[in-house]
Amino acid sequence: MAFDIEMIKQVYATMSERVDAARKITGKPLTLAEKILYSHLWGGTPEKAFIRGKDYVDFAPDRIALQDATAQMALLQFMQAGKTKVAVPTTTHCDHLIQAKNGASSDLQTALNTSNEVFNFLESVSNKYGLGFWKPGAGIIHQVVLENYAFPGGMMIGTDSHTVNAGGLGMVAIGVGGADAVDVMAGMAWELKFPKLIGVKLTGKLSGWTAPKDVILKVAGIVSAKGGTGAIVEYFGEGATGMSCTGKGTICNMGAEIGATTSTFGYDESMERYLRATDRSDVADAANKVKEHLTGDAEVYANPEEYFDQVIEINLSELSPLLNGPFTPDLSTKVGSDMTTIANKNDWPLKVEWGLIGSCTNSSYEDLSRASSIAQQAIDKGLGIKAEFGINPGSEKVRYTTERDGILGTFEALGATIFTNACGPCIGQWARYEDPKNAPKNSIIHSFNRNFAKRADGNPNTHAFVASPEMVAAITIAGRLDFNPMKDKLINKNGEEVMLDEPTGWELPPKGFEVKDDGYLAPKEDGSGVVINVDETSERLQLLEPFAPIGNDISGAKLLIKAHGKCTTDHISMAGPWLRYRGHLDNISNNCLIGAVNAYSMKTNFVKSQLDGEFDAVPNTARAYKAAGIKTIVVGDHNYGEGSSREHAAMEPRHLGVAAVLVKSFARIHETNLKKQGMLGLTFANEADYDLIQEDDTFNFIDLNEFAPNKPLTIEAVHIDGSKDLIMANHTYNQGQIEWYNEGSALNLIKKQNA
Ligand code: SF4
Repeated sequence: MAFDIEMIKQVYATMSERVDAARKITGKPLTLAEKILYSHLWGGTPEKAFIRGKDYVDFAPDRIALQDATAQMALLQFMQAGKTKVAVPTTTHCDHLIQAKNGASSDLQTALNTSNEVFNFLESVSNKYGLGFWKPGAGIIHQVVLENYAFPGGMMIGTDSHTVNAGGLGMVAIGVGGADAVDVMAGMAWELKFPKLIGVKLTGKLSGWTAPKDVILKVAGIVSAKGGTGAIVEYFGEGATGMSCTGKGTICNMGAEIGATTSTFGYDESMERYLRATDRSDVADAANKVKEHLTGDAEVYANPEEYFDQVIEINLSELSPLLNGPFTPDLSTKVGSDMTTIANKNDWPLKVEWGLIGSCTNSSYEDLSRASSIAQQAIDKGLGIKAEFGINPGSEKVRYTTERDGILGTFEALGATIFTNACGPCIGQWARYEDPKNAPKNSIIHSFNRNFAKRADGNPNTHAFVASPEMVAAITIAGRLDFNPMKDKLINKNGEEVMLDEPTGWELPPKGFEVKDDGYLAPKEDGSGVVINVDETSERLQLLEPFAPIGNDISGAKLLIKAHGKCTTDHISMAGPWLRYRGHLDNISNNCLIGAVNAYSMKTNFVKSQLDGEFDAVPNTARAYKAAGIKTIVVGDHNYGEGSSREHAAMEPRHLGVAAVLVKSFARIHETNLKKQGMLGLTFANEADYDLIQEDDTFNFIDLNEFAPNKPLTIEAVHIDGSKDLIMANHTYNQGQIEWYNEGSALNLIKKQNA
């Protein structure tokens, strides 16, 4: 796939002026993260300094990447925007919907059989609107992006949390919800709270059994799963430059596991080598010309405490291999003897049932070559595997090259199954059990990023531990969690004691990368003739109808649910099996608010309908009100809509006829998502008024015809006994967002403006 070198040159052409301006207005030297942020402002050259962790800023990302699960609703929405092409280079990647079961060829065919309508839809929309399309089997989104699109100093957004992987090539790359991606595809700005900055100084050098994975496992252990929230983590120091580009990708990838906005590294020779090896010498040449802007200023790295909000220092020469888990990626245990005691104390099974290498985190050529050096030793020394073994290459380019170089053959000779170049077991797409809910307690080890309960195989009793690929290989051979390859001996088939030597491998393929068909399909130059077919009877896809404006007369509205306590986007739009319906708004709306706790009965998915006084599921009740032409409102507690940026959590209530969501406070992204869908997102001016809302209330909005910025709205709550309470509701709509409301949605407004 040809990347957009002209776009990259344009970014570099303006960088010097913008970075200089940012230095001037902030009055200090700059970190790399600041250089990238200030050179991607929506308004061009920076004119004011932003307060980290406080100011909301409009940015202009260079690229967008979509994965197949999230792309469906994002593209369905984009189709509503009335555009003929995406405004910035965008790619779609088919990787999440492919299950791992028997091995690559049959698993890929099964996925094509079961999800073909989704893949065809994504392909035709991509073709029509100018998006690059990576077909099923082409690879995992973040590995493909690193190999083809990431570039030093760039800014990217993607509808997947591990978009951050591209920090390994010096980008600021951030995971977003579909609605944000749609805005940027439609030519609008992308808003982000200016992040705080965490500096990680890496001294020393990795050696022996220690790998880049251990760096991020160590960082996770230090800062915890939430320690990076709202911050960009910037790595620097001799330890950073001494590491491979894909190793840096691994570290940035798992920045998502510490909650970081993203992570990044300064441009260096490892990145240049990787760019040249992946056929992008022109990007490397362009980057070399502006390289002083593609890393933090020397003064920053000399005195990091002055310029970062937090600084962590790790000496790579002293770092030991780690196993993190189970059930959380920030629980670190040193490989070896610590594990025996800790596992016994916590009742973790020491016997390992499966070892898995792959995911977007660790599936590069270097990862597979180092792990295969351990596999080869096992073969040479007469050892077998004591656990089952599975490998997911990160991309077809990596698969083809590692097959050519005998690396996959080595894994297979040791009994490994090679799965499709896709997410597979990393996202629960692993047909390990017939009945995962009742499957036995067991331990597995993998090189993925996430290890929450049920994440890999749906079994709540699977204890998943995260480690480097080489350590996964060693522990799969030994079959025990507490195996320490640096000290422990194994007994081979001849009854002899043998030890595994340190892993060896290649940063990049000595004979270069090779691939026959990388799985990329370029879009048509003129896509106007491309027809997008969605079967009306499909249960997985449904074309969207523009939402009709709710209007300024909301009277006689009924309470759908008063949610008690925590109500996250998972409570509003559950994941799990519902992922199947992500491209079908009506079907996925059957999960609307089914996890929210009804404040009157304290039950979930059980609310009273004022139509007949009966109790029913929330979606059924909402549909009955909608059919009767009655608007509904949802009342909620604090931080309503926290969790993910999933736009379904706003689209579903909107689809089911909810006119307003009135809460004590909002998670900001969800509040914005409600606004984008043309609904009212309101907060109680007086929080105690939450207690005034009763189960049989009817609501009249008194002054909605005067809806204006900074002017609270008045809502009359009429109780069943005829008494009334007046409730003042605050809002944060600016004039543009009021236009979204008036038009029925932000997309309706964009479409109107285009017309
Ligand atoms: Fe997400 Fe795992 Fe796929 Fe990476 S491999 S994109 S973490 S599901």
